[in-house]
Amino acid sequence: MVSLQNIFTGATEKAKDALRFYETNYSCIGKWIIEPGKKVILQHSQPGVCRFCGLITPKVTFKKEAHAIPECLGNTSLFTKYECDACNQFFGDGIETSLGNWSKPQRALSGVRGKRGVPTLKEESSRQWRFEHGSTGIRITQDETDPIAVVNAATKEITLTVHRDPYTPVAVLKAFTKMALSLLPEDELPSFRAAMAWIRNADHKIGLVKTSFFPVLYTFVPGNSPLVNSVILLRRRSDTLPVPYVTVVLTYGNEAFQTVLPSLERDAGLSGQKVKFPDFPTPYELDRDLEPAAPIQRKRLDLTGRSLVGRETIQTVLRYKPSKRNEATGDGIDA
Ligand SMILES: [Zn+2]
Repeated sequence: MVSLQNIFTGATEKAKDALRFYETNYSCIGKWIIEPGKKVILQHSQPGVCRFCGLITPKVTFKKEAHAIPECLGNTSLFTKYECDACNQFFGDGIETSLGNWSKPQRALSGVRGKRGVPTLKEESSRQWRFEHGSTGIRITQDETDPIAVVNAATKEITLTVHRDPYTPVAVLKAFTKMALSLLPEDELPSFRAAMAWIRNADHKIGLVKTSFFPVLYTFVPGNSPLVNSVILLRRRSDTLPVPYVTVVLTYGNEAFQTVLPSLERDAGLSGQKVKFPDFPTPYELDRDLEPAAPIQRKRLDLTGRSLVGRETIQTVLRYKPSKRNEATGDGIDA
Protein backbone atom coordinates (compact mmCIF):
# COMPACT_ATOMS: atom_id res chain seq x y z
CA MET A 1 0.00 0.00 0.00
CA VAL A 2 1.26 3.48 -0.86
CA SER A 3 1.61 5.58 2.27
CA LEU A 4 -0.37 8.81 2.29
CA GLN A 5 2.64 10.57 3.74
CA ASN A 6 4.58 9.58 0.62
CA ILE A 7 1.89 10.96 -1.65
CA PHE A 8 1.64 14.28 0.18
CA THR A 9 5.32 15.10 0.41
CA GLY A 10 4.53 18.83 0.41
CA ALA A 11 2.33 18.57 3.51
CA THR A 12 3.01 20.65 6.62
CA GLU A 13 4.47 18.75 9.60
CA LYS A 14 1.17 18.98 11.45
CA ALA A 15 -0.74 17.62 8.46
CA LYS A 16 1.78 14.77 8.13
CA ASP A 17 1.24 13.91 11.80
CA ALA A 18 -2.49 13.87 11.27
CA LEU A 19 -2.12 11.71 8.15
CA ARG A 20 0.03 9.27 10.12
CA PHE A 21 -2.63 9.14 12.84
CA TYR A 22 -5.48 8.48 10.40
CA GLU A 23 -3.51 6.00 8.35
CA THR A 24 -2.55 4.00 11.42
CA ASN A 25 -5.95 4.01 13.08
CA TYR A 26 -8.61 4.31 10.39
CA SER A 27 -9.75 3.07 7.02
CA CYS A 28 -12.13 4.93 4.73
CA ILE A 29 -15.56 3.28 4.49
CA GLY A 30 -17.23 5.94 2.39
CA LYS A 31 -16.42 9.09 0.42
CA TRP A 32 -18.76 11.26 -1.58
CA ILE A 33 -18.12 14.43 -3.57
CA ILE A 34 -21.29 16.47 -3.85
CA GLU A 35 -21.57 17.67 -7.42
CA PRO A 36 -24.69 19.51 -8.61
CA GLY A 37 -26.32 17.67 -11.48
CA LYS A 38 -24.70 14.32 -10.66
CA LYS A 39 -27.50 12.46 -8.98
CA VAL A 40 -26.65 9.50 -6.75
CA ILE A 41 -29.36 7.51 -4.97
CA LEU A 42 -28.20 5.15 -2.23
CA GLN A 43 -30.27 1.96 -1.86
CA HIS A 44 -30.96 -0.50 0.93
CA SER A 45 -30.48 -4.21 0.20
CA GLN A 46 -34.17 -4.67 1.06
CA PRO A 47 -36.31 -2.05 -0.71
CA GLY A 48 -39.18 -0.48 1.23
CA VAL A 49 -37.53 -0.62 4.68
CA CYS A 50 -36.82 2.61 6.57
CA ARG A 51 -33.35 2.66 8.09
CA PHE A 52 -34.43 5.06 10.83
CA CYS A 53 -37.79 3.80 12.17
CA GLY A 54 -37.49 0.23 10.86
CA LEU A 55 -41.01 0.29 9.38
CA ILE A 56 -41.80 -1.38 6.07
CA THR A 57 -44.12 -0.41 3.18
CA PRO A 58 -47.11 -0.09 3.10
CA LYS A 59 -46.96 1.09 6.74
CA VAL A 60 -44.67 3.86 5.57
CA THR A 61 -44.22 5.52 2.16
CA PHE A 62 -41.12 6.57 0.25
CA LYS A 63 -42.52 9.23 -2.11
CA LYS A 64 -40.21 12.11 -1.18
CA GLU A 65 -36.57 12.26 -2.14
CA ALA A 66 -34.58 11.96 1.07
CA HIS A 67 -31.39 14.02 1.14
CA ALA A 68 -28.44 12.06 2.58
CA ILE A 69 -26.90 15.43 3.50
CA PRO A 70 -29.33 18.28 4.23
CA GLU A 71 -30.17 20.37 1.19
CA CYS A 72 -29.38 23.59 3.05
CA LEU A 73 -25.71 22.54 3.09
CA GLY A 74 -25.62 22.62 -0.69
CA ASN A 75 -26.55 18.98 -1.42
CA THR A 76 -28.69 18.67 -4.54
CA SER A 77 -27.31 15.35 -5.70
CA LEU A 78 -26.93 12.72 -2.97
CA PHE A 79 -30.16 10.96 -1.95
CA THR A 80 -31.24 7.80 -0.15
CA LYS A 81 -34.08 5.38 -0.80
CA TYR A 82 -34.24 4.19 2.81
CA GLU A 83 -35.66 7.15 4.72
CA CYS A 84 -39.47 7.02 4.87
CA ASP A 85 -41.60 10.14 4.34
CA ALA A 86 -42.57 10.31 8.01
CA CYS A 87 -38.93 10.22 9.19
CA ASN A 88 -37.99 12.70 6.46
CA GLN A 89 -40.64 15.11 7.73
CA PHE A 90 -39.68 14.54 11.37
CA PHE A 91 -35.98 15.26 10.81
CA GLY A 92 -36.72 18.16 8.46
CA ASP A 93 -39.02 19.90 10.95
CA GLY A 94 -36.75 19.18 13.91
CA ILE A 95 -32.99 18.69 13.99
CA GLU A 96 -32.40 19.85 10.41
CA THR A 97 -34.18 23.13 11.14
CA SER A 98 -31.79 23.67 14.04
CA LEU A 99 -28.84 22.82 11.76
CA GLY A 100 -30.18 25.20 9.11
CA ASN A 101 -30.60 28.11 11.55
CA TRP A 102 -27.28 27.49 13.22
CA SER A 103 -25.29 27.28 9.98
CA LYS A 104 -27.15 29.99 8.06
CA PRO A 105 -25.07 33.10 8.86
CA GLN A 106 -21.86 31.46 7.69
CA ARG A 107 -23.54 29.87 4.66
CA ALA A 108 -24.89 33.29 3.69
CA LEU A 109 -21.40 34.75 3.96
CA SER A 110 -19.81 31.82 2.09
CA GLY A 111 -22.41 31.69 -0.65
CA VAL A 112 -23.45 28.05 -0.11
CA ARG A 113 -26.42 27.31 -2.36
CA GLY A 114 -29.38 25.54 -0.71
CA LYS A 115 -32.94 24.88 -1.84
CA ARG A 116 -33.77 28.56 -2.40
CA GLY A 117 -30.33 29.64 -3.55
CA VAL A 118 -27.78 31.27 -1.28
CA PRO A 119 -29.51 32.38 1.93
CA THR A 120 -30.14 36.10 2.37
CA LEU A 121 -29.72 37.43 5.88
CA LYS A 122 -32.21 40.15 6.63
CA GLU A 123 -34.19 41.89 9.26
CA GLU A 124 -37.41 43.70 8.48
CA SER A 125 -38.50 44.85 11.91
CA SER A 126 -37.07 47.93 13.59
CA ARG A 127 -33.62 47.75 11.98
CA GLN A 128 -33.98 47.15 8.29
CA TRP A 129 -31.08 45.49 6.54
CA ARG A 130 -30.21 42.76 4.03
CA PHE A 131 -27.10 40.78 3.21
CA GLU A 132 -27.16 38.92 -0.09
CA HIS A 133 -25.06 37.43 -2.85
CA GLY A 134 -25.73 38.96 -6.27
CA SER A 135 -24.22 38.40 -9.70
CA THR A 136 -21.53 40.99 -9.00
CA GLY A 137 -20.70 39.97 -5.44
CA ILE A 138 -21.94 40.62 -1.96
CA ARG A 139 -24.55 43.34 -1.44
CA ILE A 140 -25.39 44.86 1.90
CA THR A 141 -28.38 47.19 2.29
CA GLN A 142 -28.65 48.88 5.65
CA ASP A 143 -29.87 51.81 7.68
CA GLU A 144 -26.93 54.17 7.99
CA THR A 145 -27.92 55.28 11.46
CA ASP A 146 -27.80 51.71 12.81
CA PRO A 147 -25.54 49.70 10.48
CA ILE A 148 -24.96 45.92 10.57
CA ALA A 149 -21.77 46.40 8.58
CA VAL A 150 -19.03 48.74 9.67
CA VAL A 151 -16.28 49.36 7.14
CA ASN A 152 -12.74 50.13 8.11
CA ALA A 153 -11.12 51.34 4.90
CA ALA A 154 -7.68 51.56 6.54
CA THR A 155 -7.53 47.88 7.45
CA LYS A 156 -9.84 46.84 4.56
CA GLU A 157 -12.12 45.06 6.95
CA ILE A 158 -15.88 44.93 7.23
CA THR A 159 -17.26 43.99 10.63
CA LEU A 160 -20.65 42.41 10.28
CA THR A 161 -22.99 41.98 13.24
CA VAL A 162 -25.91 39.64 12.60
CA HIS A 163 -28.28 37.46 14.58
CA ARG A 164 -28.77 33.74 14.41
CA ASP A 165 -32.27 32.27 14.35
CA PRO A 166 -33.11 30.02 17.33
CA TYR A 167 -31.52 26.57 17.49
CA THR A 168 -30.76 23.85 20.02
CA PRO A 169 -27.03 22.98 20.00
CA VAL A 170 -27.53 19.26 20.62
CA ALA A 171 -30.09 19.15 17.78
CA VAL A 172 -27.34 20.41 15.45
CA LEU A 173 -25.14 17.58 16.71
CA LYS A 174 -27.98 15.13 16.10
CA ALA A 175 -28.33 16.48 12.54
CA PHE A 176 -24.63 15.77 11.88
CA THR A 177 -25.13 12.30 13.38
CA LYS A 178 -28.23 11.71 11.25
CA MET A 179 -26.29 12.63 8.14
CA ALA A 180 -23.55 10.12 8.99
CA LEU A 181 -26.12 7.42 9.81
CA SER A 182 -27.73 8.05 6.40
CA LEU A 183 -24.44 7.36 4.68
CA LEU A 184 -23.20 4.49 6.82
CA PRO A 185 -22.82 1.09 5.13
CA GLU A 186 -25.75 -1.12 6.14
CA ASP A 187 -23.64 -3.71 7.95
CA GLU A 188 -22.42 -1.03 10.40
CA LEU A 189 -25.90 -0.13 11.64
CA PRO A 190 -25.95 -2.64 14.56
CA SER A 191 -23.13 -0.60 16.16
CA PHE A 192 -25.31 2.51 16.21
CA ARG A 193 -28.67 1.44 17.66
CA ALA A 194 -28.38 3.83 20.61
CA ALA A 195 -27.42 6.70 18.29
CA MET A 196 -30.39 5.89 16.07
CA ALA A 197 -32.78 6.04 19.06
CA TRP A 198 -31.14 9.28 20.22
CA ILE A 199 -31.63 11.17 16.94
CA ARG A 200 -35.24 9.98 16.80
CA ASN A 201 -36.01 11.37 20.25
CA ALA A 202 -37.49 14.87 19.92
CA ASP A 203 -36.77 15.52 23.60
CA HIS A 204 -33.29 17.03 23.46
CA LYS A 205 -32.90 16.91 27.23
CA ILE A 206 -32.53 13.13 27.09
CA GLY A 207 -29.51 11.01 26.61
CA LEU A 208 -26.29 10.01 25.00
CA VAL A 209 -23.88 12.94 24.80
CA LYS A 210 -21.19 13.78 27.28
CA THR A 211 -19.50 17.14 26.78
CA SER A 212 -15.98 15.77 27.11
CA PHE A 213 -16.47 13.10 24.48
CA PHE A 214 -18.24 15.14 21.87
CA PRO A 215 -16.17 17.86 20.31
CA VAL A 216 -16.91 19.07 16.81
CA LEU A 217 -13.60 19.91 15.16
CA TYR A 218 -14.17 23.02 13.14
CA THR A 219 -11.98 24.38 10.36
CA PHE A 220 -12.50 27.65 8.53
CA VAL A 221 -10.65 28.21 5.26
CA PRO A 222 -10.88 31.85 4.12
CA GLY A 223 -11.52 32.64 0.46
CA ASN A 224 -14.20 32.27 -2.16
CA SER A 225 -15.65 28.71 -1.72
CA PRO A 226 -12.22 27.14 -1.23
CA LEU A 227 -13.51 23.69 -0.26
CA VAL A 228 -15.19 21.00 -2.35
CA ASN A 229 -18.52 19.81 -0.93
CA SER A 230 -17.71 16.34 0.33
CA VAL A 231 -18.14 13.88 3.14
CA ILE A 232 -15.80 11.13 4.33
CA LEU A 233 -16.52 8.30 6.78
CA LEU A 234 -13.58 6.67 8.55
CA ARG A 235 -13.77 3.49 10.65
CA ARG A 236 -11.31 2.25 13.28
CA ARG A 237 -9.05 -0.47 11.85
CA SER A 238 -9.29 -2.69 14.92
CA ASP A 239 -11.07 -2.70 18.27
CA THR A 240 -7.74 -2.72 20.12
CA LEU A 241 -6.97 0.83 18.98
CA PRO A 242 -7.84 3.52 21.57
CA VAL A 243 -9.72 5.79 19.17
CA PRO A 244 -13.44 6.34 18.47
CA TYR A 245 -15.03 3.77 16.15
CA VAL A 246 -16.29 6.05 13.37
CA THR A 247 -15.53 9.66 12.54
CA VAL A 248 -17.10 11.78 9.83
CA VAL A 249 -15.64 14.78 8.01
CA LEU A 250 -18.01 17.11 6.18
CA THR A 251 -16.77 20.03 4.12
CA TYR A 252 -18.65 22.72 2.19
CA GLY A 253 -18.06 26.37 1.29
CA ASN A 254 -15.44 27.70 3.70
CA GLU A 255 -16.00 25.18 6.46
CA ALA A 256 -15.07 21.65 7.53
CA PHE A 257 -16.74 19.83 10.40
CA GLN A 258 -15.42 16.66 11.91
CA THR A 259 -17.22 14.71 14.57
CA VAL A 260 -17.40 11.28 16.12
CA LEU A 261 -20.40 9.14 15.32
CA PRO A 262 -21.52 8.06 18.80
CA SER A 263 -21.42 4.29 19.30
CA LEU A 264 -22.30 3.11 22.80
CA GLU A 265 -21.97 -0.39 21.38
CA ARG A 266 -18.36 0.04 20.21
CA ASP A 267 -16.88 2.90 22.21
CA ALA A 268 -17.87 2.03 25.79
CA GLY A 269 -14.23 1.04 26.48
CA LEU A 270 -13.04 4.58 25.71
CA SER A 271 -15.17 6.15 28.42
CA GLY A 272 -13.02 8.24 30.77
CA GLN A 273 -9.89 7.86 28.61
CA LYS A 274 -8.07 10.78 27.10
CA VAL A 275 -8.20 10.22 23.36
CA LYS A 276 -5.89 11.84 20.85
CA PHE A 277 -7.86 13.18 17.95
CA PRO A 278 -6.16 15.49 15.44
CA ASP A 279 -8.03 17.55 12.87
CA PHE A 280 -8.33 15.86 9.51
CA PRO A 281 -6.13 17.95 7.19
CA THR A 282 -7.56 20.12 4.40
CA PRO A 283 -6.05 20.08 0.87
CA TYR A 284 -4.40 23.42 1.75
CA GLU A 285 -2.27 21.75 4.39
CA LEU A 286 -1.38 18.78 2.22
CA ASP A 287 -0.08 20.67 -0.77
CA ARG A 288 2.15 23.70 -0.39
CA ASP A 289 1.20 24.90 -3.89
CA LEU A 290 -2.33 25.55 -2.69
CA GLU A 291 -2.57 28.73 -0.77
CA PRO A 292 -5.63 29.88 1.19
CA ALA A 293 -6.61 33.57 0.95
CA ALA A 294 -5.70 34.01 4.64
CA PRO A 295 -4.57 31.66 7.44
CA ILE A 296 -6.80 28.67 8.20
CA GLN A 297 -8.66 28.98 11.52
CA ARG A 298 -9.50 26.07 13.78
CA LYS A 299 -11.50 25.59 16.94
CA ARG A 300 -13.44 22.96 18.85
CA LEU A 301 -17.16 23.56 19.02
CA ASP A 302 -19.25 22.42 21.93
CA LEU A 303 -22.69 21.56 20.60
CA THR A 304 -23.84 19.57 23.61
CA GLY A 305 -26.17 22.27 24.98
CA ARG A 306 -29.68 20.90 25.39
CA SER A 307 -31.72 24.09 25.66
CA LEU A 308 -33.01 26.32 22.88
CA VAL A 309 -30.68 29.24 22.17
CA GLY A 310 -32.60 32.39 21.24
CA ARG A 311 -31.27 35.19 19.07
CA GLU A 312 -27.53 34.83 19.28
CA THR A 313 -25.41 37.77 18.12
CA ILE A 314 -22.56 36.89 15.82
CA GLN A 315 -19.79 39.17 14.71
CA THR A 316 -17.73 38.34 11.64
CA VAL A 317 -14.88 40.21 10.06
CA LEU A 318 -14.66 40.12 6.27
CA ARG A 319 -11.47 41.21 4.58
CA TYR A 320 -11.61 42.66 1.11
CA LYS A 321 -9.43 43.88 -1.69
CA PRO A 322 -10.85 46.92 -3.44
CA SER A 323 -11.45 46.12 -7.12
CA LYS A 324 -10.74 48.72 -9.82
CA ARG A 325 -14.44 49.49 -10.09
CA ASN A 326 -14.77 50.06 -6.37
CA GLU A 327 -11.62 52.01 -5.78
CA ALA A 328 -13.42 55.28 -6.34
CA THR A 329 -15.70 54.70 -3.37
CA GLY A 330 -13.16 52.84 -1.28
CA ASP A 331 -15.35 49.80 -0.72
CA GLY A 332 -17.82 47.54 -2.44
CA ILE A 333 -20.85 48.18 -0.31
CA ASP A 334 -24.19 49.61 -1.25
CA ALA A 335 -25.41 51.25 1.90
ZN1 LIG B 1 -39.00 5.92 8.93
